Amino acid sequence: MVGRLAGKNAIVTGAAGGVGLETVILMLREGASVLMTDISTKGLEVALAKVQSVVPQHDGRVETRPTDVSNEADVEAAVAHVDSWGGVDVMFNNAGIMHAKDGDSEEVPNDIWDLTMNINVKGVFFGSKHAVRSLRKHGKRNGSIINTASMVAIVGAATPQVAYTASKGAVLALTRELAIVHAREGYRFNSLCPAPLNTPMLQDWLGDDKAKRYRREVHFPTGRFGEAIEQAQAVIFLASDESSFVIGTDFLVDGGLTKAYVTPE
Ligand code: NAD
Repeated sequence: MVGRLAGKNAIVTGAAGGVGLETVILMLREGASVLMTDISTKGLEVALAKVQSVVPQHDGRVETRPTDVSNEADVEAAVAHVDSWGGVDVMFNNAGIMHAKDGDSEEVPNDIWDLTMNINVKGVFFGSKHAVRSLRKHGKRNGSIINTASMVAIVGAATPQVAYTASKGAVLALTRELAIVHAREGYRFNSLCPAPLNTPMLQDWLGDDKAKRYRREVHFPTGRFGEAIEQAQAVIFLASDESSFVIGTDFLVDGGLTKAYVTPE
């Protein structure tokens, strides 16, 4: 077996979306077996077809399983499925939403606040909890859990989305603590902090609105949004043993955005 993830079993949540799908493709290329999970059954079908066309040959397995990360029984069942492969080695808690009705303190409705927290925070918690349970059950001394936060957990966004930002701040705090608590067991937790990306989540929302798009693009030192594949490359590093001493980081993949004071030309 060859590859940076050879012999590892991985679960990816939100695997039908931008970052999730690119990560599945790279994981398979690096020799992992991958369970693709997503709330969208149709999305999983489309994503699996893409995976099979892009990576026709791979050493590991690839399977799909509809899973709502905010439902603990669903997450538990997905992890149990991978227990039958020999247990989870890598858990990428990537599924998340930014709801169109999110906004400033007066705008965001309570039900949207709750929905955002249930998916973005509780979903990451359930994934973390059941991954640890699987690692312990199989007596593993090495595991990597990567939880997707966002750069807005580190710097605030002037374009208000307070439920989303609060949820990602919770992911950072939760992941940091889990990293410390489980470090001696060999279970590494890290947060991935992307900047705005060219994925359906943001691009569908921006649509043709040039002013809205420019308001975000102007903040990038590079002048462009990030690509899903650029997040996926970072996830492969965090998932692999190459990052064996990388623990509890807020791993920013943001094109320098959080380090910049950029003004319009
Ligand atoms: P995306 O919308 O392309 O993909 C997200 C996927 O999650 C979708 O396939 C969706 O069906 C799935 N999903 C939604 N609710 C779910 C649930 N309850 N259970 C399981 N799956 C569910 O988004 P993306 O850009 O690939 O985002 C991936 C992660 O990166 C998210 O956590 C997001 O918050 C984060 N992020 C994205 C950006 C960005 O600009 N796109 C920036 C920073 C952070």
